[in-house]
Amino acid sequence: MKLLTTIAQHAAMTPEKTAFRNGNDTISYGMLWDKSSKMASLIRDSFQLQRQTPIVVYGHMGTDMPVSFLACVKAGYPYIPVDTSIPMERVRLIVEKSGAGLVINTTGVDLDIDNISILHTEALQLDQTEAIEQDYWVKENDVFYIIYTSGSTGNPKGVQVTAANLQSFTDWMTEDFPLGSDKVFMNQAPFSFDLSVMDVYPALQSGGTLHALDKDVISKPKQLFENLGQSGIQIWTSTPSFVQMCFPNPDFDATMLPELETFLFCGEVLPLAVARELKERFPNAKVFNTYGPTEATVAVTSIEVTEGLLSKEEALPVGFPKPDMRIYVVDEVGSLLPEGEKGELVLAGPSVTKGYLGEPQLTEKAFGMIEGLSSYRTGDAGVIKDGMVYCQGRLDYQIKLHGYRMELEDIEFHLNQSDYIESAIIIPHAPNEEIEYLIAAIVPKEHDFAKEYQLTAAIRKDLALRLPAYMIPRKFTYHEAIPMTMNGKADRKKMKEEVFE
Ligand code: AMP
Repeated sequence: MKLLTTIAQHAAMTPEKTAFRNGNDTISYGMLWDKSSKMASLIRDSFQLQRQTPIVVYGHMGTDMPVSFLACVKAGYPYIPVDTSIPMERVRLIVEKSGAGLVINTTGVDLDIDNISILHTEALQLDQTEAIEQDYWVKENDVFYIIYTSGSTGNPKGVQVTAANLQSFTDWMTEDFPLGSDKVFMNQAPFSFDLSVMDVYPALQSGGTLHALDKDVISKPKQLFENLGQSGIQIWTSTPSFVQMCFPNPDFDATMLPELETFLFCGEVLPLAVARELKERFPNAKVFNTYGPTEATVAVTSIEVTEGLLSKEEALPVGFPKPDMRIYVVDEVGSLLPEGEKGELVLAGPSVTKGYLGEPQLTEKAFGMIEGLSSYRTGDAGVIKDGMVYCQGRLDYQIKLHGYRMELEDIEFHLNQSDYIESAIIIPHAPNEEIEYLIAAIVPKEHDFAKEYQLTAAIRKDLALRLPAYMIPRKFTYHEAIPMTMNGKADRKKMKEEVFE
């Protein structure tokens, strides 16, 4: 596999170069390669798992995580990255559902999981171990990693990403984005979220250095900005919510991060206002909006957000498809819609993954074939105009209120346009199944109103210029911040709990 061969070349040519660092915990390309090769043969010899048996890799952002990932795939096993922020009950469910044959624990703390072998990376003795032979590496159509996403029923689904899927994604990133080589990449998303794949493998394939920001650093603003200031980060990958969280600090700009060249966003809507603010704070950096689900290997569309685009568009598009991908828009029964009509986005091509592990029915529902290509129905509403894809929210956020059909994200979009609002989320109030009214949970910008009701009146007036009356929320609540999920996206569930507290 090209990705592995290329990492081996970096290890041979620049063995001392840092591949991954988290504070004082750092690892060079030479060590990363050597340790993972030895660990791979130890796994093969000690546990005798059948080829392609999944292995859970548990931990946060230490160097043993990338070492373990590479060790698994070099021995021919897919890994399941599980972050420490995932509750133990759910970890046990993932271990059980996936049929994992081994858990690699990188935390140094004992895990409360029964009936499975556990390998502690802390105690590993690899001095006498031989490196594994290349014959064992995962093959093109083998599964490389499995990422568990939350299913709508609360049952996590394991998306199986093959070596070929990952290679296709990594090549697109390194060839079509201005990432260059030898760059410092920020690694902010936990490994259990596929956004992390957007920095990890492009960085390793291009001989760059991953600079991890772990959850302790992120949770303390002073430490976070000190860390960023000393990081030398050149490529930034995060959700829009994460960068928005940095905005209250007026020093978060090109003076703090003078080497920053490229922002890559994925995972949720990139609001126009966020892109504009970034352009002001980082006038020389390029900003990319990318879109895609875990089921189609991280991202399948992209666009550079230029001044021209910002002045032309009301809502940012997610861009043009990755060259080897086709994107279609279909109606409720799956029939293709003509260009310009809104429907469900369907993705087809080599980024589409193998489906959900051990869930043939769920896989069949969402995955299929179109014109000889593997396809995936996203559940995202969207439209294509002149080849440009616009993602218009989840189909499942479409609601009916007093008979009117509307999309929560449509209202949120207009709220976010208001000069009084930093960010906002709409929460439907549905005490008995049916939605009675909408609540706008708002993080306000600084304002001069003495009373909240005056602010509400001003926002209502603003909204009335943009939305029909039936879409204007009945209630407005004010908050200091929008809570984030562990994946760094807006946490609607928690916001709802806060609103109803
Ligand atoms: P995940 O599998 O966690 O990455 O979530 C994928 C979903 O996030 C997609 O199906 C979209 O609903 C949403 N998403 C990802 N990127 C974008 C984007 N750039 N704009 C709007 N929604 C996005």
